[in-house]
Amino acid sequence: MAKGLYDKQKAKFIIWHCFVKLVSMNKECLACKYQKEPKFEILRTDHWNVVLDTNQAYLGRSYLTLLTHKGSLASLSDEEWHDYEEIVRKLEKAYKEVYGAEPLNWCCFMNNAFRTEPFNPHVSWQIYPRYKTTPVVDGITFDDPRFGEFFDDYARKVVSDST
Ligand SMILES: [Zn+2]
Repeated sequence: MAKGLYDKQKAKFIIWHCFVKLVSMNKECLACKYQKEPKFEILRTDHWNVVLDTNQAYLGRSYLTLLTHKGSLASLSDEEWHDYEEIVRKLEKAYKEVYGAEPLNWCCFMNNAFRTEPFNPHVSWQIYPRYKTTPVVDGITFDDPRFGEFFDDYARKVVSDST
């Protein structure tokens, strides 16, 4: 192989990897996008916000999302952890007092971000309030037939398409 051809291929290889890196850095993050105009936001602190899910199969189901784009729990600052702790205390107290929810299932999956490469996770928690006693709001019952077990992620109720 001629040296000139080899250098040309090597240059293409380097340019391609720079391009992939740039795309990775600019890959749209849906969590960051939604935080610009959050709908159904019920709480905002210095570092997090809480937004109700459009699917309320579990009354009060919501998302707790870090306001800064970070991809792992290990990358959280002390202030972000402290803020998170305060939110957990507030939400667990409020959900229990208002609707009788106990426990809250806190799930930090982030699996969607790992379906395609380049991976671009954003720290967020899904909150599933659980109910031994079925709450009724405006005549709508929110039963939890799997109470005491893993929640049913396919359950749908009071679904809004205005996301
Ligand atoms: Zn993000």
